[in-house]
Amino acid sequence: MMLHFHLQTTDGAARAGTLVTAHGDVPTPTFMAVGTAGTVKAMTADAVRATGAKIVLGNTYHLMLRPTAERVARLGGLHKFMDWPGPILTDSGGFQIMSLAKLRKLDEAGVTFQSHTDGSKHFLSPERSMEIQHLLDSTITMVLDECTKFPATHDEAAASMRLSTRWAKRSRAAFIPRDGYGQFGIVQGSVYEDLRRESAAALCDLDFEGYAIGGLAVGEGQAAMFDMLDITTPLLPAEKPRYLMGVGTPDDLLGSVARGVDMFDCVMPTRAGRTARAYTAAGVLNLRNARFIDDSSPLDPTCACLCCTRHTRAYLHHLFRCEEMLGPMLLTTHNLTYYQSLMIAARAAILAGNYNEFSTRTRVGWASGDAG
Ligand SMILES: [Zn+2]
Repeated sequence: MMLHFHLQTTDGAARAGTLVTAHGDVPTPTFMAVGTAGTVKAMTADAVRATGAKIVLGNTYHLMLRPTAERVARLGGLHKFMDWPGPILTDSGGFQIMSLAKLRKLDEAGVTFQSHTDGSKHFLSPERSMEIQHLLDSTITMVLDECTKFPATHDEAAASMRLSTRWAKRSRAAFIPRDGYGQFGIVQGSVYEDLRRESAAALCDLDFEGYAIGGLAVGEGQAAMFDMLDITTPLLPAEKPRYLMGVGTPDDLLGSVARGVDMFDCVMPTRAGRTARAYTAAGVLNLRNARFIDDSSPLDPTCACLCCTRHTRAYLHHLFRCEEMLGPMLLTTHNLTYYQSLMIAARAAILAGNYNEFSTRTRVGWASGDAG
């Protein structure tokens, strides 16, 4: 049986479920830590597990360049390579080619580009992206799509979405089904309701194991993103998981869960952790701020992570002032734990039928803090 989703209960549009995969079960809603180049930056695999993470994301673009998908396969696959036996979702490579690679040329066949690290020339087609993700032994394979630029006119967004739809068909045909593995299609269409509808309908015909919503959180703003979710999630089959790509802040997550999203990934908690910013129950704190120099309280007294139970704000401030690598390690640990705790609490609230009250209470907490 392919990877599948067990929908346990709903509270309004919010859903609690379980993703059942070859590499273990994932309670949803869930946040996927981003392990770009086969590592969640600044974290050992054990440290990632200790945050409560059940599934991580790997980036096809980075891994195809270094160490290459063929080498990862020879070394036993990405799970073994990075000491993560649990589920791994890999992206298709398309987004990073558009944001990182040089000298891109995109046509119907695929995209030709130069590596951002050594200038070497590469070609990625839907078929090659599927092959790479297969070599990596990815639990969840993403179709290759074109990331529609933002802003885009209706004509531009339509042309881009229809190319992605043709590539989704080719990606589906190239995917090799295996027990407990799956492939997700990606709904595109920018901020245009009719295009989102067209994209979702075409992808549902291909009967993917799950559906991602792409092309959001690219500058349209939270209100427009939520509008698109309100339109898109009801178009997707209830019995399949829904993944909102590249989102977001804790507030984005709460609002998106309320609109029926089950899965998220974002670099925010890890990137913020390396730049001294902490997400806490009392809002965002910047540990470089001089007001923490004598602060002997824990970073977030409500958090059970290693950073919060063993260290003070003053110590974290000191580590960042001295540019010690332990600072990013501890703050990444905390931020990922915070995101996981938020999703665990959201799931509990959905199961208890009080998700709205939980969201309101959590937002009041963020606003109450002395964030700086
Ligand atoms: Zn913590």
